[in-house]
Amino acid sequence: MRKEDEYGFEKIVEVYDEKTGMQGVCVIHNTARGLGKGGIRMVPDITTEEVMGLARAMTWKNAMADIPFGGAKSGIKANDKELTPEQKEAVVRAFARKIAELMPGQYIAGPDMNMTEVEMDEVADELKNPKVTTGKSISMKGLPHELGSTGYGVVVSIRVAIEHLGLDPKNLTAAIEGFGNVGTFTMKFLTEMGVKVVAVSDSKGTIYDENGLDYEALMKTKEEKRTVTAYDKGKVFGTKELFELPVDILVPGARPNVITDENVEKVKAKIVAEAANLPIPYETEKILMKKGVTVIPDFVSNAGGVISSWCETEGMDEEKMFKIVEEKVSNNTKVMLEHADKMEKDTRKAALEIAKQRVHDAMVEKGWISKKE
Ligand code: NAD
Repeated sequence: MRKEDEYGFEKIVEVYDEKTGMQGVCVIHNTARGLGKGGIRMVPDITTEEVMGLARAMTWKNAMADIPFGGAKSGIKANDKELTPEQKEAVVRAFARKIAELMPGQYIAGPDMNMTEVEMDEVADELKNPKVTTGKSISMKGLPHELGSTGYGVVVSIRVAIEHLGLDPKNLTAAIEGFGNVGTFTMKFLTEMGVKVVAVSDSKGTIYDENGLDYEALMKTKEEKRTVTAYDKGKVFGTKELFELPVDILVPGARPNVITDENVEKVKAKIVAEAANLPIPYETEKILMKKGVTVIPDFVSNAGGVISSWCETEGMDEEKMFKIVEEKVSNNTKVMLEHADKMEKDTRKAALEIAKQRVHDAMVEKGWISKKE
């Protein structure tokens, strides 16, 4: 038995398929607010414990996003790089068959590490039901991440923080780590809002121009030369220097643990929006908060992706999805910042409290537990 606290775990299903050798696990943490929702991760060293931690985090993320989903997650133990495309498809389909009885009645999957719209289409096809996955291709009536919902949500959360601080976006500068799906859309929407983006990075390094970078020109450079560092104006630095630049807004949007005790004192930004997952350990976030930096935690700032997933399950189109992302992310960021003002600006603690309260209320409403005094 793996009961942790009043919230979960509801179900842990470990599966094995003899024919393909597939080993996997599906964890449903809490479904008080709705069906368990969370991605499938394919990595060679996945453990049930890791998937449990991720499923639990999804409960809070979905509750904070204010969508009617509970928390869940799946893992397939396999090395993506050692499988041929046919073997990978066979493993993905075997996993889908083994957990078929959970989908979509209790669990809806989505893409996570080494899983894309291709695999989401395969799972849906295997179970002959488009409702079992989100993040499918447009041809399967999906709303793929390529539409930019996550980057859009990141910028909505930044806009609310700017308003909360009484600043004018037109006077602000920004630096963005990562120029993939999330980073490119974050730059696009920040630029449209009037913020001057002066630095972006990719795995090759950082490009910095204090006069501002041109979005279209940078996209062209990345496409043609495969790296932003080939941009023809400005200075090139290493990837780590991005976090120390004199900017107002900093967006860690690629790797985990990029701001730590080692470089936190060098951060000059007033707003840090966590587009990536877990870019800053909580202890380091607290140092930033004490210095007066407004930190928008990952599960609030990058919630555009999960909100888009819910829109997909409701059959909404792209336009409606963007409207819902804007409504939900702006409201959630606002209530979090207001709550954090009462607790020494600890935005992560504030967001977690709000999320847990929402789950608790749903459990009370369902009669699973009695109301806390
Ligand atoms: P992606 O693969 O599209 O892009 C990643 C980018 O990061 C690439 O440009 C790569 O060059 C760059 N990069 C790699 N190493 C780097 C380094 N050391 N320094 C600077 N840049 C580096 O990935 P993505 O979908 O944009 O996801 C980025 C982050 O956002 C991840 O942490 C992901 O978990 C998180 N996230 C993504 C979504 C989504 O919808 N895509 C949703 C929620 C969270």
